[in-house]
Amino acid sequence: MTGPGGVVPGGVVVVGAGECGTRAALALREEGYAGPVTLVGGEPGHPYERPPLSKAVLSGAADLTPLCTPERLVDAGVTHLAGVAATALDVRAHEVALADGRVLGYERLLLATGARARPLPGALVLRSHADAVALQARLRPGTRVGVVGGGFIGLEVAATAAGLGCAVTVVEAAPRLMGRAVPERLAARVAARHAEAGVAVRCASPVARLEPGRIVLADGQVVETDVVVAGIGSAPETALAAAAGLAVADGIVVDGSLATSAPDVFAAGDCCSFPHPLYDDRRVRLESWRAAQEQGVHAARALLGDPEPYAAVPWFWSDQYELSLQVAGLPGAATEEVVRVRPDGAELWFGLDAGRLVAVAGIGTGTAVAKDVRIGELLIAQRAAPDPAALADPGVALKPLLRAPSPVG
Ligand code: ADP
Repeated sequence: MTGPGGVVPGGVVVVGAGECGTRAALALREEGYAGPVTLVGGEPGHPYERPPLSKAVLSGAADLTPLCTPERLVDAGVTHLAGVAATALDVRAHEVALADGRVLGYERLLLATGARARPLPGALVLRSHADAVALQARLRPGTRVGVVGGGFIGLEVAATAAGLGCAVTVVEAAPRLMGRAVPERLAARVAARHAEAGVAVRCASPVARLEPGRIVLADGQVVETDVVVAGIGSAPETALAAAAGLAVADGIVVDGSLATSAPDVFAAGDCCSFPHPLYDDRRVRLESWRAAQEQGVHAARALLGDPEPYAAVPWFWSDQYELSLQVAGLPGAATEEVVRVRPDGAELWFGLDAGRLVAVAGIGTGTAVAKDVRIGELLIAQRAAPDPAALADPGVALKPLLRAPSPVG
């Protein structure tokens, strides 16, 4: 490495040390890359898992879960620059400038910059470990917690806060919870569980403004609060890419192999939008832990020259109370729906389009729906068109609906 201010030559630079970037850095080595790998992250400390932040970390039941051991990064020869933001990208010179004045040269660059919580003035948000720590300090038995936004983050925070004995009110602008990505029937089940836990859920209640100690709703009603948390969605972190002239449209635009519009620059995870081959190459941007992980590994291969497009079935989950909700595929692509109610009370929802299975969702206690959703995911990947009557019948096993892999290619 050259001294401060000098250009560090060559190698792969990964911007963003979250799930996606860290997995990519490690995967480069697993794929046999022997050159320098530098992982640049704006957050201080070692890379960590985000999903527990709204659950065990927020409740105080667990500490941070590291993404890997610090030794693993060292052993892989990954130089992790923590607490340093990348501030500018020069795609012609193949250089990234950092906040501390250093400039890194690259042969290939991966942008894994993630997404940022949409802010609401007067409210806390939950995206980083620092956010979780700040919020946790405010959650005490009897604390009146106002949650703005009934999506995943808002509802996981609500469940955790209720578990800590807080008096929680969720205000959601839309007529129902989790409208972005969860079928209505399953969302209703989640709403009922929140009500049972004593959480007041108010849908069709857009917020007009926050005032000290209260949320003022558009219809003039007020919710008295000690602390307000906003879970009103996130925006892809695209500033660096946009300033460098890369194509950006709800995320950094990439092709099937995660290459951006600039030579030798790739993007992956929450920050990118990519054409999905299972959905007529419709552009999608996923805010999903699994996609971040998989795309990190995929990007590592892509930037070493593998042209295979990323085609995995989208998948995410949310844990609230004892309930686990899982969604595979894109429910928004469905034009027809089928519901299966299992004898154990778990429910599955299947979304079809022109007979083809395009999404599966399930809700149940603990891991009750994991296996069925997994089979659903495989059916989606196979572009299967299962009989709707079979899908609806809890007496029909799902696994036999899978096509056996063909023995000859
Ligand atoms: P997140 O990852 O933050 O949970 P989602 O998109 O899953 O993001 O959910 C955000 C939710 O917040 C959506 O249901 C949306 O309708 C709701 N929302 C957005 N703005 C407001 C607002 N001003 N008042 C109330 N709810 C809002």
